[in-house]
Amino acid sequence: MFAKNILQAKDAALRECQSHFAVPDAIAQHNTLKILEAMRKVKVSDIHFNTSSGYAYDDIGRQKLDELYAAVFHTEAALVRTQFVSGTHTLATVLIGILRPGDELVAAMGTPYDTMRTVIGYEKKVPGSLIDFGVSYKQANLTADGHVDYNSLKNCITAKTKLVLIQRSRGYSSRPTLTVEEIGKICKFIKKIKKDCICFVDNCYGEFIEAQEPTEAGADIMAGSLIKNPGGGLAPTGGYVAGRKDLVELAACRLTAPGMGGELGASLANNRLLFQGFFLAPHVVAQAVKSAIFAASFFGKLGYSVHPAFTDKRGDIVQQIDLGSSEKLEAFCRGIQKYSPVDSFAVPEPWDMPGYANQVIMAAGTFIQGASIELSADGPMRAPFAVYMQGALTFEHGMFAAMGAAQEIEDMSK
Ligand SMILES: *Cc1c(COP(=O)(O)O)cnc(C)c1O
Repeated sequence: MFAKNILQAKDAALRECQSHFAVPDAIAQHNTLKILEAMRKVKVSDIHFNTSSGYAYDDIGRQKLDELYAAVFHTEAALVRTQFVSGTHTLATVLIGILRPGDELVAAMGTPYDTMRTVIGYEKKVPGSLIDFGVSYKQANLTADGHVDYNSLKNCITAKTKLVLIQRSRGYSSRPTLTVEEIGKICKFIKKIKKDCICFVDNCYGEFIEAQEPTEAGADIMAGSLIKNPGGGLAPTGGYVAGRKDLVELAACRLTAPGMGGELGASLANNRLLFQGFFLAPHVVAQAVKSAIFAASFFGKLGYSVHPAFTDKRGDIVQQIDLGSSEKLEAFCRGIQKYSPVDSFAVPEPWDMPGYANQVIMAAGTFIQGASIELSADGPMRAPFAVYMQGALTFEHGMFAAMGAAQEIEDMSK
Protein backbone atom coordinates (compact mmCIF):
# COMPACT_ATOMS: atom_id res chain seq x y z
CA MET A 1 0.00 0.00 0.00
CA PHE A 2 1.24 3.44 -0.91
CA ALA A 3 0.93 6.29 1.58
CA LYS A 4 -1.28 9.25 0.71
CA ASN A 5 1.61 11.68 0.15
CA ILE A 6 3.22 9.24 -2.27
CA LEU A 7 -0.01 8.85 -4.26
CA GLN A 8 -0.37 12.63 -4.32
CA ALA A 9 3.22 13.11 -5.50
CA LYS A 10 2.60 10.49 -8.22
CA ASP A 11 -0.51 12.29 -9.50
CA ALA A 12 1.23 15.65 -9.44
CA ALA A 13 4.31 14.21 -11.18
CA LEU A 14 2.16 12.58 -13.89
CA ARG A 15 0.39 15.89 -14.57
CA GLU A 16 3.67 17.79 -14.64
CA CYS A 17 5.42 15.26 -16.94
CA GLN A 18 2.72 14.82 -19.60
CA SER A 19 4.07 17.42 -22.00
CA HIS A 20 7.66 16.20 -21.44
CA PHE A 21 6.66 12.61 -22.28
CA ALA A 22 5.87 13.88 -25.76
CA VAL A 23 9.61 14.17 -26.51
CA PRO A 24 10.58 10.46 -26.05
CA ASP A 25 7.25 9.45 -27.65
CA ALA A 26 8.01 11.45 -30.80
CA ILE A 27 11.57 10.06 -30.97
CA ALA A 28 10.21 6.51 -30.58
CA GLN A 29 7.86 7.16 -33.50
CA HIS A 30 10.70 8.43 -35.67
CA ASN A 31 12.99 5.51 -34.79
CA THR A 32 10.26 2.87 -35.20
CA LEU A 33 9.64 4.12 -38.73
CA LYS A 34 13.39 4.11 -39.37
CA ILE A 35 13.57 0.44 -38.28
CA LEU A 36 10.47 -0.58 -40.25
CA GLU A 37 11.91 0.99 -43.39
CA ALA A 38 15.25 -0.75 -42.85
CA MET A 39 13.51 -4.11 -42.22
CA ARG A 40 11.65 -3.71 -45.52
CA LYS A 41 14.79 -2.63 -47.36
CA VAL A 42 16.92 -5.60 -46.22
CA LYS A 43 13.91 -7.98 -46.42
CA VAL A 44 13.80 -9.57 -42.98
CA SER A 45 11.88 -12.85 -43.04
CA ASP A 46 11.27 -15.73 -40.63
CA ILE A 47 13.93 -17.84 -42.39
CA HIS A 48 16.43 -15.53 -40.64
CA PHE A 49 15.29 -16.54 -37.15
CA ASN A 50 16.96 -19.95 -36.93
CA THR A 51 19.96 -21.03 -34.92
CA SER A 52 23.05 -22.46 -36.62
CA SER A 53 25.91 -24.71 -35.53
CA GLY A 54 29.61 -25.42 -35.98
CA TYR A 55 31.53 -22.88 -38.08
CA ALA A 56 28.19 -21.49 -39.29
CA TYR A 57 29.40 -20.49 -42.75
CA ASP A 58 26.65 -18.75 -44.72
CA ASP A 59 24.46 -18.23 -41.63
CA ILE A 60 21.83 -16.09 -43.33
CA GLY A 61 20.26 -14.96 -40.05
CA ARG A 62 23.58 -13.64 -38.76
CA GLN A 63 24.28 -11.91 -42.09
CA LYS A 64 20.81 -10.35 -42.21
CA LEU A 65 21.11 -9.00 -38.68
CA ASP A 66 24.42 -7.32 -39.59
CA GLU A 67 22.75 -5.86 -42.66
CA LEU A 68 19.80 -4.57 -40.61
CA TYR A 69 21.97 -2.82 -38.02
CA ALA A 70 24.05 -1.24 -40.79
CA ALA A 71 20.88 0.00 -42.52
CA VAL A 72 19.42 1.52 -39.32
CA PHE A 73 22.69 3.11 -38.23
CA HIS A 74 23.55 4.29 -41.77
CA THR A 75 26.90 2.53 -41.87
CA GLU A 76 28.77 0.46 -44.46
CA ALA A 77 28.93 -2.54 -42.16
CA ALA A 78 27.94 -3.96 -38.78
CA LEU A 79 28.88 -6.90 -36.61
CA VAL A 80 26.13 -8.08 -34.24
CA ARG A 81 27.17 -11.09 -32.16
CA THR A 82 26.14 -12.98 -29.05
CA GLN A 83 29.82 -14.02 -28.89
CA PHE A 84 30.53 -10.57 -27.43
CA VAL A 85 30.25 -11.22 -23.69
CA SER A 86 29.50 -7.61 -22.69
CA GLY A 87 29.69 -3.99 -23.75
CA THR A 88 33.26 -3.77 -22.47
CA HIS A 89 34.29 -6.79 -24.54
CA THR A 90 32.73 -5.23 -27.64
CA LEU A 91 34.47 -1.87 -27.14
CA ALA A 92 37.78 -3.59 -26.33
CA THR A 93 37.51 -5.70 -29.50
CA VAL A 94 37.26 -2.54 -31.59
CA LEU A 95 40.21 -0.87 -29.84
CA ILE A 96 42.50 -3.91 -29.86
CA GLY A 97 41.41 -4.73 -33.43
CA ILE A 98 42.33 -1.31 -34.81
CA LEU A 99 45.27 -0.09 -32.72
CA ARG A 100 48.85 -1.32 -33.25
CA PRO A 101 52.07 -0.92 -31.19
CA GLY A 102 53.31 2.65 -31.50
CA ASP A 103 49.82 4.05 -32.15
CA GLU A 104 48.30 6.55 -29.80
CA LEU A 105 44.81 6.47 -28.32
CA VAL A 106 43.16 9.68 -27.08
CA ALA A 107 40.05 9.82 -24.86
CA ALA A 108 38.05 12.97 -25.65
CA MET A 109 35.77 13.08 -22.60
CA GLY A 110 38.12 12.89 -19.62
CA THR A 111 38.22 9.67 -17.61
CA PRO A 112 36.53 6.80 -19.50
CA TYR A 113 34.03 4.32 -18.01
CA ASP A 114 35.52 2.20 -15.17
CA THR A 115 35.99 -1.03 -17.09
CA MET A 116 37.49 0.81 -20.10
CA ARG A 117 40.26 2.18 -17.85
CA THR A 118 41.33 -1.40 -17.23
CA VAL A 119 41.16 -2.25 -20.95
CA ILE A 120 43.45 0.72 -21.68
CA GLY A 121 45.58 -0.15 -18.63
CA TYR A 122 46.80 3.33 -17.73
CA GLU A 123 46.09 3.32 -13.99
CA LYS A 124 48.05 0.21 -13.15
CA LYS A 125 49.83 -2.55 -15.06
CA VAL A 126 47.23 -4.79 -16.71
CA PRO A 127 48.54 -7.78 -18.71
CA GLY A 128 47.00 -7.74 -22.19
CA SER A 129 45.81 -4.14 -21.94
CA LEU A 130 46.38 -1.65 -24.77
CA ILE A 131 49.34 -0.08 -22.96
CA ASP A 132 50.82 -3.55 -22.38
CA PHE A 133 50.70 -3.97 -26.18
CA GLY A 134 52.66 -0.75 -26.75
CA VAL A 135 49.80 1.63 -27.50
CA SER A 136 50.23 5.01 -25.84
CA TYR A 137 47.37 6.87 -24.19
CA LYS A 138 46.34 10.45 -23.48
CA GLN A 139 43.10 11.93 -22.25
CA ALA A 140 41.67 15.38 -22.80
CA ASN A 141 40.38 17.27 -19.78
CA LEU A 142 36.78 18.39 -19.47
CA THR A 143 35.79 22.00 -18.86
CA ALA A 144 34.72 22.91 -15.31
CA ASP A 145 31.05 22.31 -16.24
CA GLY A 146 31.78 18.90 -17.75
CA HIS A 147 31.82 19.74 -21.45
CA VAL A 148 34.43 18.97 -24.12
CA ASP A 149 37.54 21.10 -23.68
CA TYR A 150 38.45 21.65 -27.35
CA ASN A 151 41.78 23.25 -26.48
CA SER A 152 42.83 20.31 -24.35
CA LEU A 153 41.62 17.87 -27.03
CA LYS A 154 43.61 19.71 -29.68
CA ASN A 155 46.76 19.51 -27.56
CA CYS A 156 46.33 15.75 -27.20
CA ILE A 157 46.16 14.99 -30.91
CA THR A 158 49.54 14.36 -32.56
CA ALA A 159 50.80 12.62 -35.73
CA LYS A 160 50.76 9.36 -33.73
CA THR A 161 47.07 9.62 -32.77
CA LYS A 162 45.29 6.80 -34.60
CA LEU A 163 41.96 6.89 -32.79
CA VAL A 164 39.92 9.11 -30.49
CA LEU A 165 37.48 7.47 -28.06
CA ILE A 166 34.32 9.52 -27.53
CA GLN A 167 32.10 8.29 -24.70
CA ARG A 168 28.50 9.40 -25.21
CA SER A 169 26.93 8.52 -21.86
CA ARG A 170 28.24 10.04 -18.65
CA GLY A 171 28.60 6.61 -17.02
CA TYR A 172 28.88 7.25 -13.27
CA SER A 173 30.57 10.62 -13.64
CA SER A 174 28.65 13.82 -13.09
CA ARG A 175 29.26 15.42 -16.51
CA PRO A 176 26.29 15.86 -18.85
CA THR A 177 25.76 13.22 -21.53
CA LEU A 178 26.88 14.13 -25.06
CA THR A 179 24.22 14.91 -27.62
CA VAL A 180 24.60 13.50 -31.13
CA GLU A 181 24.98 17.05 -32.41
CA GLU A 182 27.92 17.61 -30.05
CA ILE A 183 29.47 14.29 -31.13
CA GLY A 184 29.24 15.51 -34.73
CA LYS A 185 31.01 18.71 -33.76
CA ILE A 186 33.77 16.82 -31.95
CA CYS A 187 34.32 14.50 -34.95
CA LYS A 188 34.56 17.47 -37.32
CA PHE A 189 37.03 19.18 -35.00
CA ILE A 190 39.21 16.05 -34.81
CA LYS A 191 39.19 15.53 -38.60
CA LYS A 192 40.24 19.14 -39.10
CA ILE A 193 43.34 18.54 -36.99
CA LYS A 194 44.11 15.07 -38.38
CA LYS A 195 42.10 13.97 -41.38
CA ASP A 196 42.68 10.21 -41.01
CA CYS A 197 42.10 10.07 -37.24
CA ILE A 198 39.42 7.49 -36.42
CA CYS A 199 36.46 8.77 -34.36
CA PHE A 200 35.13 5.87 -32.24
CA VAL A 201 32.02 6.35 -30.11
CA ASP A 202 31.19 4.33 -26.98
CA ASN A 203 27.45 4.39 -27.65
CA CYS A 204 26.38 2.43 -24.52
CA TYR A 205 23.02 3.69 -23.15
CA GLY A 206 22.72 6.09 -26.10
CA GLU A 207 20.93 4.10 -28.81
CA PHE A 208 17.52 5.47 -29.85
CA ILE A 209 17.59 8.29 -27.30
CA GLU A 210 17.69 10.71 -30.21
CA ALA A 211 16.47 10.61 -33.80
CA GLN A 212 20.02 10.13 -35.09
CA GLU A 213 22.99 8.02 -34.04
CA PRO A 214 26.65 9.13 -33.89
CA THR A 215 27.48 7.32 -37.17
CA GLU A 216 24.97 9.61 -38.91
CA ALA A 217 26.76 12.66 -37.52
CA GLY A 218 30.37 11.92 -38.48
CA ALA A 219 31.64 9.06 -36.26
CA ASP A 220 33.63 6.40 -38.16
CA ILE A 221 32.63 3.54 -35.89
CA MET A 222 30.58 2.92 -32.73
CA ALA A 223 29.82 0.01 -30.42
CA GLY A 224 27.42 -0.95 -27.64
CA SER A 225 25.85 -3.71 -25.56
CA LEU A 226 22.81 -5.79 -26.54
CA ILE A 227 21.63 -6.07 -22.93
CA LYS A 228 21.23 -2.30 -22.95
CA ASN A 229 19.13 -0.22 -25.38
CA PRO A 230 19.39 -1.97 -28.80
CA GLY A 231 18.51 -5.43 -27.44
CA GLY A 232 15.08 -4.10 -26.50
CA GLY A 233 15.01 -6.32 -23.40
CA LEU A 234 14.82 -9.50 -25.50
CA ALA A 235 18.44 -10.06 -26.62
CA PRO A 236 19.88 -12.63 -24.18
CA THR A 237 23.50 -11.35 -24.42
CA GLY A 238 25.92 -9.80 -26.92
CA GLY A 239 27.19 -6.60 -28.47
CA TYR A 240 27.30 -4.75 -31.76
CA VAL A 241 29.81 -2.76 -33.79
CA ALA A 242 28.72 -0.51 -36.68
CA GLY A 243 30.75 1.72 -38.94
CA ARG A 244 33.23 1.90 -41.82
CA LYS A 245 33.67 -1.48 -43.51
CA ASP A 246 37.47 -1.71 -43.08
CA LEU A 247 37.23 -0.87 -39.37
CA VAL A 248 34.38 -3.29 -38.64
CA GLU A 249 36.42 -5.98 -40.43
CA LEU A 250 39.40 -5.28 -38.13
CA ALA A 251 37.12 -5.71 -35.10
CA ALA A 252 35.69 -8.94 -36.60
CA CYS A 253 39.20 -10.32 -37.12
CA ARG A 254 39.99 -9.61 -33.49
CA LEU A 255 36.78 -11.26 -32.27
CA THR A 256 37.45 -14.42 -34.31
CA ALA A 257 40.82 -14.70 -36.08
CA PRO A 258 42.71 -12.91 -38.88
CA GLY A 259 41.29 -14.03 -42.21
CA MET A 260 38.03 -15.28 -40.69
CA GLY A 261 36.40 -12.09 -39.50
CA GLY A 262 32.62 -12.10 -39.41
CA GLU A 263 32.12 -15.09 -41.69
CA LEU A 264 32.11 -17.63 -38.87
CA GLY A 265 30.25 -17.76 -35.57
CA ALA A 266 27.15 -19.80 -34.85
CA SER A 267 23.83 -18.21 -33.94
CA LEU A 268 23.39 -20.17 -30.72
CA ALA A 269 20.59 -17.98 -29.47
CA ASN A 270 17.37 -17.81 -31.42
CA ASN A 271 17.99 -14.94 -33.84
CA ARG A 272 14.37 -13.87 -33.52
CA LEU A 273 15.18 -12.44 -30.09
CA LEU A 274 17.79 -10.14 -31.64
CA PHE A 275 15.57 -9.02 -34.53
CA GLN A 276 12.48 -8.58 -32.37
CA GLY A 277 14.43 -6.88 -29.59
CA PHE A 278 15.91 -4.40 -32.09
CA PHE A 279 12.42 -3.76 -33.49
CA LEU A 280 11.10 -3.09 -29.96
CA ALA A 281 14.12 -1.04 -28.86
CA PRO A 282 12.85 2.46 -29.78
CA HIS A 283 9.64 1.85 -27.81
CA VAL A 284 11.40 0.25 -24.86
CA VAL A 285 13.96 3.07 -24.71
CA ALA A 286 11.08 5.57 -24.60
CA GLN A 287 9.56 3.60 -21.68
CA ALA A 288 12.89 3.85 -19.83
CA VAL A 289 13.27 7.57 -20.60
CA LYS A 290 9.71 8.29 -19.45
CA SER A 291 10.35 6.35 -16.22
CA ALA A 292 13.45 8.52 -15.67
CA ILE A 293 11.49 11.73 -16.34
CA PHE A 294 8.77 10.59 -13.93
CA ALA A 295 11.36 9.70 -11.25
CA ALA A 296 13.00 13.13 -11.63
CA SER A 297 9.68 14.92 -11.14
CA PHE A 298 8.38 12.56 -8.42
CA PHE A 299 11.51 12.59 -6.25
CA GLY A 300 11.85 16.32 -6.84
CA LYS A 301 8.38 16.72 -5.31
CA LEU A 302 9.47 14.60 -2.33
CA GLY A 303 12.32 17.08 -1.74
CA TYR A 304 15.35 15.38 -3.30
CA SER A 305 17.95 16.87 -5.61
CA VAL A 306 17.79 15.11 -9.01
CA HIS A 307 19.99 15.12 -12.16
CA PRO A 308 18.91 15.64 -14.85
CA ALA A 309 15.74 17.61 -14.04
CA PHE A 310 12.47 16.37 -15.56
CA THR A 311 12.56 19.33 -17.96
CA ASP A 312 16.12 18.65 -19.22
CA LYS A 313 16.96 17.21 -22.62
CA ARG A 314 18.17 13.62 -22.13
CA GLY A 315 21.13 11.85 -23.70
CA ASP A 316 20.80 8.48 -21.95
CA ILE A 317 18.46 6.46 -19.73
CA VAL A 318 20.15 7.17 -16.37
CA GLN A 319 18.51 9.17 -13.56
CA GLN A 320 20.50 10.35 -10.55
CA ILE A 321 18.74 11.05 -7.24
CA ASP A 322 20.73 12.38 -4.27
CA LEU A 323 19.28 10.69 -1.20
CA GLY A 324 21.58 12.17 1.44
CA SER A 325 22.09 9.17 3.74
CA SER A 326 23.23 5.56 3.58
CA GLU A 327 19.99 4.43 5.25
CA LYS A 328 17.90 6.07 2.54
CA LEU A 329 20.09 4.67 -0.24
CA GLU A 330 19.66 1.16 1.17
CA ALA A 331 15.90 1.65 1.61
CA PHE A 332 15.58 2.97 -1.96
CA CYS A 333 17.27 -0.14 -3.36
CA ARG A 334 15.12 -2.41 -1.16
CA GLY A 335 12.01 -0.73 -2.60
CA ILE A 336 13.17 -1.12 -6.22
CA GLN A 337 13.96 -4.79 -5.57
CA LYS A 338 10.56 -5.39 -3.96
CA TYR A 339 8.84 -4.03 -7.05
CA SER A 340 10.92 -6.11 -9.50
CA PRO A 341 9.42 -9.02 -11.43
CA VAL A 342 12.32 -11.39 -10.55
CA ASP A 343 13.93 -11.96 -7.12
CA SER A 344 11.48 -9.54 -5.50
CA PHE A 345 12.01 -11.37 -2.20
CA ALA A 346 15.76 -10.57 -2.13
CA VAL A 347 17.15 -7.79 0.08
CA PRO A 348 20.04 -5.86 -1.51
CA GLU A 349 23.01 -5.07 0.73
CA PRO A 350 26.15 -2.96 0.17
CA TRP A 351 29.20 -5.00 -0.87
CA ASP A 352 32.86 -4.56 -1.82
CA MET A 353 32.64 -4.68 -5.60
CA PRO A 354 35.97 -5.34 -7.34
CA GLY A 355 37.45 -2.13 -8.76
CA TYR A 356 35.35 0.34 -6.75
CA ALA A 357 36.68 2.62 -4.02
CA ASN A 358 33.54 2.45 -1.85
CA GLN A 359 31.00 -0.24 -1.15
CA VAL A 360 28.23 -0.36 -3.73
CA ILE A 361 24.58 -1.34 -3.35
CA MET A 362 22.54 -2.63 -6.29
CA ALA A 363 18.94 -3.55 -6.91
CA ALA A 364 18.22 -5.60 -10.01
CA GLY A 365 15.37 -8.02 -10.38
CA THR A 366 15.85 -8.58 -14.10
CA PHE A 367 14.91 -11.41 -16.47
CA ILE A 368 18.36 -11.19 -18.08
CA GLN A 369 21.25 -11.06 -15.62
CA GLY A 370 22.60 -7.54 -15.30
CA ALA A 371 20.49 -6.15 -18.15
CA SER A 372 20.32 -2.43 -17.54
CA ILE A 373 17.61 -1.73 -20.13
CA GLU A 374 15.50 -3.51 -17.50
CA LEU A 375 14.87 -1.46 -14.36
CA SER A 376 17.80 -1.39 -11.96
CA ALA A 377 19.26 0.97 -9.38
CA ASP A 378 22.68 1.23 -7.83
CA GLY A 379 24.90 3.64 -5.95
CA PRO A 380 28.22 3.93 -4.12
CA MET A 381 28.02 4.20 -0.31
CA ARG A 382 29.44 7.73 -0.09
CA ALA A 383 28.08 11.30 0.04
CA PRO A 384 25.80 12.55 -1.52
CA PHE A 385 24.46 8.97 -1.39
CA ALA A 386 23.27 9.24 -4.95
CA VAL A 387 21.30 6.45 -6.50
CA TYR A 388 21.49 5.85 -10.26
CA MET A 389 18.27 4.45 -11.60
CA GLN A 390 18.00 3.23 -15.17
CA GLY A 391 15.88 1.19 -17.51
CA ALA A 392 12.31 -0.17 -17.35
CA LEU A 393 10.74 -2.32 -20.02
CA THR A 394 7.40 -0.63 -19.32
CA PHE A 395 6.65 2.85 -17.98
CA GLU A 396 4.12 1.37 -15.55
CA HIS A 397 6.83 -0.72 -13.91
CA GLY A 398 9.24 2.23 -13.75
CA MET A 399 6.57 4.36 -12.07
CA PHE A 400 5.49 1.77 -9.48
CA ALA A 401 9.09 0.88 -8.63
CA ALA A 402 9.89 4.57 -8.02
CA MET A 403 6.83 4.77 -5.74
CA GLY A 404 7.93 1.56 -4.01
CA ALA A 405 11.35 3.05 -3.35
CA ALA A 406 9.80 6.19 -1.88
CA GLN A 407 7.46 4.07 0.28
CA GLU A 408 10.38 2.04 1.62
CA ILE A 409 12.16 5.27 2.66
CA GLU A 410 8.95 6.44 4.31
CA ASP A 411 8.52 3.17 6.24
CA MET A 412 12.13 3.35 7.43
CA SER A 413 11.48 6.39 9.63
CA LYS A 414 8.48 4.79 11.33
C1 LIG B 1 27.59 -0.09 -19.77
C2 LIG B 1 28.68 0.73 -20.33
C3 LIG B 1 29.84 0.13 -20.85
C4 LIG B 1 30.06 -1.35 -20.92
O1 LIG B 1 29.66 -2.01 -19.79
P1 LIG B 1 29.36 -3.59 -19.74
O2 LIG B 1 28.82 -3.74 -18.38
O3 LIG B 1 30.64 -4.28 -19.98
O4 LIG B 1 28.34 -3.91 -20.79
C5 LIG B 1 30.80 0.96 -21.37
N1 LIG B 1 30.63 2.30 -21.40
C6 LIG B 1 29.53 2.89 -20.92
C7 LIG B 1 29.39 4.38 -20.99
C8 LIG B 1 28.51 2.13 -20.37
O5 LIG B 1 27.40 2.73 -19.91
